[in-house]
Formats: sequence, C-alpha cells, structure tokens
Amino acid sequence: MKAIFLDRDGVINYDTEYVHDTTNFKYIPGAKEALKRLAEAGYKLFVITNQSGIGRGYYTLEDTEKLHEYMLADFAKEGIKIEKIYVCPHRTDENCKCRKPNPYFVFEAQKEFDIDLSKSFFVGDRDTDIGCGKNAGVKTILVGDLGSGNIEPDFREKDLISAINIIIKSSNDSRQD
Ligand SMILES: [Zn+2]
Repeated sequence: MKAIFLDRDGVINYDTEYVHDTTNFKYIPGAKEALKRLAEAGYKLFVITNQSGIGRGYYTLEDTEKLHEYMLADFAKEGIKIEKIYVCPHRTDENCKCRKPNPYFVFEAQKEFDIDLSKSFFVGDRDTDIGCGKNAGVKTILVGDLGSGNIEPDFREKDLISAINIIIKSSNDSRQD
C-alpha cells in the first residue's frame, strides 16, 4: 500500500496562523481535486499536522478535532477519504516524539496500514515537513514559498494540485518495473 502524507495548513487550507475553526478555514484552490486524483491513483491519504497552538493554550484538541470532522465530512461528500489525521498538540520546547520533523506518525501509519514507504510521498510547505519525510524515508515535495532552502526536498512545486503530476508520473514509472 502506497501513501501520501500531507501537511494540513499551507497544503490543504491556507495557513492563516493557528487555524482552529471553520471561520478561518479556507481551502487552497485545487487541493480537493488533488486529493481526489491521488486517491484514484491508488494512494492512501494521511494528514500529519503540528498544532502547537494547543500546547500554547490558544485552542483545544477538541477544537481541532471538531474542525477535522467538518473537513472529513466535506471531503466525504466529494468521495475523498482520509485514512487518518495525526495531530501533535505539543509545543516545540516539550521535545515530544511526535512533532515533525520527527517521523513518528509516519511510522505509526506504516505499522497500522502496512504502507510501503519507498512508494510514498510527504507533501508540505515547511522545512519540518521535508525533514519528517526524509527522516521517514519517503520522497518529499515542498510546496509554497516558506521553505528556507536549508533542507533540500526531492521536488518543489507551487501547490498540491501541481505536485500530483510528479506523484502520478512516479507511480506510472514504477508500474513498468
Ligand atoms: Zn508532539
């Protein structure tokens, strides 16, 4: 089973800082279409998100879960299934094992869903996402313009919808092996 691991803020929805309810939750154009096409190409979809705003007391895990229920219900209407959303609620200074760039949640998904990491991708907009993907041994795609350049992704693309061509091409290539 191959998978796409997605960061949430800045990949699926605009990152308007500490997004935690539906009022400031707005999809990036093409994101939902991209998810649909990735699922059709046979990828299982996962979201892995750092939400340090919970650890900072700006909002609660329940707020985040409510937002995710809304998002998943909306995706379901369009036939998009996210297997699981992993949330790290900790602050950086808590040094937890689950905050990206730690690959902890990728390995959790690998165990639970029997994921072939060599055929999987991480798509994110920050160094921590690319670091997480690299630490887990999946291919990495940096989207948006927040990457610092300190850590080199395998690919760079404008956004999720433009990233899917790389992914789908790679799955066609490996089919011919
Ligand atoms: Zn954590």
